[in-house]
Amino acid sequence: MEGGESELFDVTARGPGEPEVAIVGGVHGDERSGIRAVRRLRDADLEFQRGVAFVLANPAAIAANERYLDSDLNRVFPGDPNGDREERIAAQLCEFLEELTTLSLHGTESQPTPFALIHSAHEREFELAARLPVPHVVDHRGMNEHTITACGVNVEIELAFEDSDRETARAEYQARAFLKGVDALPGEPPDADPDFFHMDAPVQKPSGETYEVSVENFERVPAGAAFASVDGREIVADEPFSPIMMSPYGFSEIFGYRGHTIGESLAEVTETWLDRDRE
Ligand SMILES: [Zn+2]
Repeated sequence: MEGGESELFDVTARGPGEPEVAIVGGVHGDERSGIRAVRRLRDADLEFQRGVAFVLANPAAIAANERYLDSDLNRVFPGDPNGDREERIAAQLCEFLEELTTLSLHGTESQPTPFALIHSAHEREFELAARLPVPHVVDHRGMNEHTITACGVNVEIELAFEDSDRETARAEYQARAFLKGVDALPGEPPDADPDFFHMDAPVQKPSGETYEVSVENFERVPAGAAFASVDGREIVADEPFSPIMMSPYGFSEIFGYRGHTIGESLAEVTETWLDRDRE
């Protein structure tokens, strides 16, 4: 980048020509498996067919092994060039990613299975996510609007939070599948057939000492069923919902999110969800 403040994020371009694709890790500095996967792929001897940018989004937070230093980077996109550290990173990174097709790697305490997060403002994100080897894709339009999905065409993958070789390998597997899906690496991505959900609303955590969640994420909870408890008192669903990122302690104020199914295939979600959206 030219002029002004030097780059606040770390970027390495690989492959022929200007980058058209980006793999981003370290939006949260303590989500280590994605950071390690970005470093591994960046340094690997691979035949890239398109220009790929490998990005470590928040090097200072990565060095400190902290989620962030001033403010949560994944809540301040598209950023502010005159703001605090993360707001400035967000502004620069958003500009950098604006014309690129991006995969961003994250870790969450709430859900061991990888799943994808997208935003239906960009229909292309549904096609990209449908080619990833994940069982579930979540459209978060209307919830947490200020994440990195605000920048260009951007798919987020949530992996388990743990810092392990196994989780790093899973992050790398997702990134390689993405790179194959956009023809930046040779070969076809593995078969994938995810189902699609919309993230509707947070589920607040009443105050208490001990919390439990008694349901599986993405498995529909019928009305009247107990899905969590606070100090042994059960919480019952008023209406049916599909839990997303629900866990007892993953977030301080909420258990996670209520969601609902929007399609069992890309064709179905395009017809029933995206077309309806357009009206
Ligand atoms: Zn994250």
